[in-house]
Amino acid sequence: MHPTLADDLHRLPELLQSARDFAAREMNGLDDRPVAHLDKAPAPGHVPAEGAGAEGALARFAERWAPGFSGSAGPRYLGFVTGGATPASLTGDWLTSVYDQNVSGSGGSSATALERETLGWLRELFGLSEAHSGAFVSGATVSNTVGLAIAREWLGERRGVSVSRQGAGALGPVDVLSGSPHSSVAKALSVLGIGRDRLRPVPVLSGNREAVDVERLAAALDALDGHPAVVVANAGTVNTVDFDDLRAIAALRERYDFWLHVDAAFGGFAALSPSYAHLVEGLDAADSVCVDLHKWLNVPYDAAVQFTRRQDLQVQVFHNASPYLGLPGGDPDFLHLTPENSRRLRALPAWFSLTAYGREGHREIVERNVALARRLGERIAQEVPGLRLLAPVRLNVVCFTLADEPSEERVHALAHAVAASGEAFVTPTFYAGTHALRAAFSNWRTSEADTDRVFESLRRHCADLRR
Ligand SMILES: *Cc1c(COP(=O)(O)O)cnc(C)c1O
Repeated sequence: MHPTLADDLHRLPELLQSARDFAAREMNGLDDRPVAHLDKAPAPGHVPAEGAGAEGALARFAERWAPGFSGSAGPRYLGFVTGGATPASLTGDWLTSVYDQNVSGSGGSSATALERETLGWLRELFGLSEAHSGAFVSGATVSNTVGLAIAREWLGERRGVSVSRQGAGALGPVDVLSGSPHSSVAKALSVLGIGRDRLRPVPVLSGNREAVDVERLAAALDALDGHPAVVVANAGTVNTVDFDDLRAIAALRERYDFWLHVDAAFGGFAALSPSYAHLVEGLDAADSVCVDLHKWLNVPYDAAVQFTRRQDLQVQVFHNASPYLGLPGGDPDFLHLTPENSRRLRALPAWFSLTAYGREGHREIVERNVALARRLGERIAQEVPGLRLLAPVRLNVVCFTLADEPSEERVHALAHAVAASGEAFVTPTFYAGTHALRAAFSNWRTSEADTDRVFESLRRHCADLRR
């Protein structure tokens, strides 16, 4: 063994203590550190010939890189849809690396059983029945991709071809219908050989909505003349958190032949609250469901789940047959269900957080985030004449813009000024024909005081912009 490595092995308990002390300082400092860093990152260096040992590496990281990392785990980073990591999920994440289990198969470890238990808990939380089986993936993009890959195989079944054997070309053109799909759906269609252009937009409801107009969807399906299609329903759009009427869409299957995929990346968490659960009623009727965990469950990156009612088709697409791995039979190993073979025990952070805080603890996070989004929305609408809301705050996202001249340049300038102040982070978007900003609440730490700090920063920089 190299002497530096041997030394690290010898001092492992002290090393872990140093890492723990450093991590605790960083976590405790989250409230005070700048929410974003806009300075240039250090230039890349050469690989060190002689190692510095783990303590040396930690010192170098702390000095050279850590200062430029954002406060995205903290309470005032409201860009994209960004969760943090609850204390319990962080514990689970550390232990994931300690045990370093490979959950591709169940060989010699109970780790895959823990993953199955966690998938069962999540299925319950989101109101899915046992007809849905689940698998962990790295994020909602991959979850959407897996769901649509199963949809593609199902289309093959309907048309009498095996896409997983013959290729996507055997299928002919595919129709994918959706009202306000997330950008990752187009990416998935590109990956799957279906093609981005096959994503056909269906009109949304009038009156400042992003939810699909179900009658127009029915008309679009009707025009397909009995050809099976794929419908991507959206449960929580990123700009205004609108929800398609899942029950009404599912009911269309009595008349039309389609695979129903639901992208509930963060909107699925509405199911945790009695006040908002109605928004995802009908989710169980979906053929495939995507839910992100690194957003509103507040586990560290990278974690999401994929559920489906057709695990048989999923295995056709993803099975990894090899003499030494064995063919699937019974409960298939996870490597036969997703693009990955070897991977980490992704369930452990979620298992820890759900065990630590339960359904009630996670319901509280969801409801508090929604209440804070409403608070910010109300304050923007009532107290800042220079800003205006672009939609009612339906759940956890505030979508707003400049009241005068909302040009791309000016809207981005406001986002930049807020980020440069280190007080908050919001991200630009384009909604209802105008450049806009989004403030998305999904962090477990965010308080009323944080929300008011975000508000003050927006108000101050909006006023500067008008000067
Ligand atoms: C975030 C998001 C995705 C993509 O999720 P990643 O975790 O970034 O892969 C897909 N759909 C919706 C609705 C999202 O909010």
